[in-house]
Amino acid sequence: MNAVKSKARSALWRISRLFGLPQGLAFLPACTLAAYWAGGEAALLFASLIVPLLYSAFGQITPPEELPARDTATGLPLRKAAQVQLDGALAQQGGPHGRVAALVIAVEGVADVAQRLGLPAGDDVLEKTGQRLCSALRDSDLVVRAEGDCFAVALSPMARGDLETVLQICARLQEAVREPISLDATAVYVSAAIGFCLAERSPAQNGDAMLKSAETAMLEARAHGPGAIRAFSADMQVAAKSRSDMIDDLAVALEKRQIQPWFQPQLSTDTGQICGFEALARWQHPRRGVVPPGAFLSAIEQAGLARQLGEEMLVQALSALRAWDAAGLEVPTIGVNFSGHELRDPHFADHIHWELDRFGLAPERLAVEILETVVCNRPDDMIVRNIAALAELGCRIDLDDFGTGQTSIVSIRRFPVSRLKIDRSFVTNVDNDRDQQDMVAAILTMSERLGLETLAEGVETPSEHAMLAQLGCTAVQGFGIAHPMPFDDTIEWITRHNEKLAHYPVIRRHMG
Ligand code: C2E
Ligand code: CA
Ligand code: CA
Repeated sequence: MNAVKSKARSALWRISRLFGLPQGLAFLPACTLAAYWAGGEAALLFASLIVPLLYSAFGQITPPEELPARDTATGLPLRKAAQVQLDGALAQQGGPHGRVAALVIAVEGVADVAQRLGLPAGDDVLEKTGQRLCSALRDSDLVVRAEGDCFAVALSPMARGDLETVLQICARLQEAVREPISLDATAVYVSAAIGFCLAERSPAQNGDAMLKSAETAMLEARAHGPGAIRAFSADMQVAAKSRSDMIDDLAVALEKRQIQPWFQPQLSTDTGQICGFEALARWQHPRRGVVPPGAFLSAIEQAGLARQLGEEMLVQALSALRAWDAAGLEVPTIGVNFSGHELRDPHFADHIHWELDRFGLAPERLAVEILETVVCNRPDDMIVRNIAALAELGCRIDLDDFGTGQTSIVSIRRFPVSRLKIDRSFVTNVDNDRDQQDMVAAILTMSERLGLETLAEGVETPSEHAMLAQLGCTAVQGFGIAHPMPFDDTIEWITRHNEKLAHYPVIRRHMG
């Protein structure tokens, strides 16, 4: 109905412009005389009556309001429209209509779809997601396209606009977004990270401040894994400021090579010999000292620097292997951690192949560490293909943090996994706790049947080490053996370890 009215107003406005109204009325007396001279009395009557009648009909017409600009990919209005709607709703707030909230929804996974299937596919996903969001909300709520892969929503006033109600709305929207989207016979999956701001928590009572706060909350949600929801709070602003400072610092840190791998040894339980090292990222911060990866990995991903970090870690890890070889020290493998993001790169396997060639290293000397959670959750085709290509090449595939995800035996078989890295949560206290022993024993039995090696992570004491060897675990790694160390310290550590080995009896592995 509103659309019909606004079309009629536009048409009347155009007619009135055609007649030069209202400014053209200044020429009415001249026009009347000219009409009499040219067309006689009939023309005089027409000019003096019809023109004023036209003015009285259209004279009050004001220009139609500009139609709001729309996003080309989704056909939805842009952020400004949500801001205006929120401003209006805030002006009425406190009245009978209830409370107002703003949402910002980041669609996670669109960049991957665009990378795999092309930019138009990414736009299709956004268009379909936009439609689903609109259908999951009330007609009075406004969904708009925001920056990047985001949407924003101005929720119209709700009688019970409390935290609980808005959380329920967010969960409903996430469910709508999670449904598979079919694109050219391929099903793609995306998820939604949602941040929201309730009017009473907004730093200022206007639409712009509410949307900015919802955006801050969305970034916080995005940093906490796929499908998170966060409500804006004042502390978040401080955290967001420090994260955005960190993102700026990280680009510089990578450029200045302040992020380097530290190395943690892995020992064979059978012989006590070093069977490898794992490369773990460390940021040598000029003011904060050594920063562990947990403090900066999500900011690296957010800044789009994951690939750059992976490249630096791989090159440094392969250089270390070459340096140990050159020093005559036996280190069979180096483990490098790769994120799901890197594994979705279609050139990933080729790139690793190229780097191994460049360093003149055999592929079996690289253990590609992949988190169990990356392969157990509906891994996309690209990840499956990259892992298969690397295994085919001869690289070892380590399933990291095993036991924390929900990998089925089928998916372990589907991936050419060489080794399970049993998560620290099963290892802690394994020497004293019967339940821990049962869990580790079950994992080891399954691995043995599937022909997989095992490595226990986070081994902190000699008696945990001894128990794991007895239970039949292939290798161990943890603070009990050594903390991760800079490359320069590894040479001395390896030398000392090999000397010690010559003097100590070997803990024999329980067989059969
Ligand atoms: P992770 O791959 O499971 O690495 C093992 C983590 O456990 C390391 O933490 C290591 O320092 C710690 N650790 C080793 N032994 C023990 C122990 O006995 N007790 C305890 N409490 N902890 C132990 P770190 O270095 O802080 O790394 C954390 C996680 O960050 C890693 O977990 C890995 O998932 C990720 N990460 C590290 N470097 C990289 C990288 O270059 N790329 C990617 N994508 N992720 C990385
Ligand atoms: Ca690892
Ligand atoms: Ca691990």
